[in-house]
Amino acid sequence: MDIVFLNGEYLRRAEARVSVDDRGFLFGDGVYEFTPAYHGRFFRASRHRARMRASLGQIAIDYDLEEWDEIHGELLARNDLSGEPAAAVYFQVTRGEAPRAHVFPPSGTRPTLFAFAQRFERADRAAWEEGFTAVTEPDTRWGRVDIKTLQLLPNVLALESARSRGVSEAILVRDSVALEGSHNNLFAVFGRTVRTHPLSNRILAGITREVVLEIARGIGYEVEEAPIGVDSLESASEIFLTGSSTEIRPIVELDDRRVGAGVAGPVTRAVYDGFLDRVREECGHGLSGARATDI
Ligand code: PLP
Repeated sequence: MDIVFLNGEYLRRAEARVSVDDRGFLFGDGVYEFTPAYHGRFFRASRHRARMRASLGQIAIDYDLEEWDEIHGELLARNDLSGEPAAAVYFQVTRGEAPRAHVFPPSGTRPTLFAFAQRFERADRAAWEEGFTAVTEPDTRWGRVDIKTLQLLPNVLALESARSRGVSEAILVRDSVALEGSHNNLFAVFGRTVRTHPLSNRILAGITREVVLEIARGIGYEVEEAPIGVDSLESASEIFLTGSSTEIRPIVELDDRRVGAGVAGPVTRAVYDGFLDRVREECGHGLSGARATDI
């Protein structure tokens, strides 16, 4: 079954229709969230809702998110995903349907709400330990990537360029600073210091980034929110990416150069294990004992 939510209704995906005059279609005029759920429980749902509210406010779409919890729960249930180890709900709001004009439509124009649930594939631990590859790509995005808008073409093109070169991830670079991945935040490890770009208009304030900062501080690493010069990555002992669908992923090769030992490093592993523990604690699944990718 593939049931989606569109403007107040639960519909089969094949039956869901959006107008050609929707401003999401014409201008990419909208925002979205991707909220992970483990065994049917949403991880950091209130942080995702707060960011969605902030994104809506930043682009002046008037929608109060009152139905957020209900839609999230219903979509998992109606798609038989409530018991799934890892699923997610994608939720987007556009400025609605109006004749094409740059100026905002009249007040009272109803925003378009669209949401769906999906399973997401997590890397198995053996593949995870071997790590992932990345290349640097120029960051050609606009100046407000802290707003989670639908306008992801530069991210799409950067990732496509990376994939066409046979690697899995793209790291976006502007003014010689490595900012973040195409759909994830970037961390680099220098000795016992874990560094990530400070919050600004140049990166998205990732919820996973926030969790990782908590964990790294808790373990006792030095944590620095400071720009990462792209040249400094050559001396990083570890590099990893973080995101709701990415979770935490070690980058073991960047621009054809090996990073550290060329496998997942000790800091990345400790952070990932800490992340899995948080998920178990907060999403209440009682897997005990040895650390595993299973949650
Ligand atoms: N940076 C970008 C550009 C993203 O698109 C995303 C997630 O979609 C992230 C970072 C990671 O954010 P989060 O951890 O909240 O998923």
